[in-house]
Amino acid sequence: METGSGRKILIIEDESDVADLLTLNLRKAGFKASTAADGASGLQKARDDRPDFIVLDLMLPKMSGLEVCRILKSDAATSHVPILMLTAKAEEIDRIVGLEFGADDYVTKPFSPREIALRIRAILRRGEKPEESLKAGPISIDPARHEVRVNGKQVHLTSLEFKLLRTLMQRRGRVQDRDKLLNEVWGYESVIDTRTVDTHVRRLREKLGKAGDAIETVRGFGYRLREN
Ligand code: CA
Repeated sequence: METGSGRKILIIEDESDVADLLTLNLRKAGFKASTAADGASGLQKARDDRPDFIVLDLMLPKMSGLEVCRILKSDAATSHVPILMLTAKAEEIDRIVGLEFGADDYVTKPFSPREIALRIRAILRRGEKPEESLKAGPISIDPARHEVRVNGKQVHLTSLEFKLLRTLMQRRGRVQDRDKLLNEVWGYESVIDTRTVDTHVRRLREKLGKAGDAIETVRGFGYRLREN
């Protein structure tokens, strides 16, 4: 799981510029982001919208972030949702208490939106089941071990080539456009050209040998791993 994959992030933050910055960047990272400007509406949205993740500011009007955190973690409807707390640096003590209240992690302000997206991904990944091995014709991959085999013989791929192959195998039969592959494999923050995708696909095909023919070029769109 390298990008947001449409998972829903609820941002509870009263400062609209911070909320907007986060919303924009999390959307770019492939998440669906929504916001709440105070604790009460945040709790309501957490129950109604069933987010996959909550970014919660500590300093909120009326109800504090800690109180919101405590309620979320004690409510069966929301207790499983990971929470990343945002704190200002001066709030050292509260920050620690925040983790005691069940928050999964914290980031101090000012933060980089990129860091937030990385943290969210890392926390979401922790909660995932180990990935099952994938097979397509002679190609098999073991995501947990980062191993690729063609007809049982191990093929050494770079980390990017591996991710590229895994993405194509997970979506076998479906065309993946270059932008989508860039987003999935390289991450949204990369500023590289879509032609980089072509270069890596070419190398991947070479390494897979004859089995690499299964990766088809769909002119004008991107790539697809043949169904069988
Ligand atoms: Ca605030």
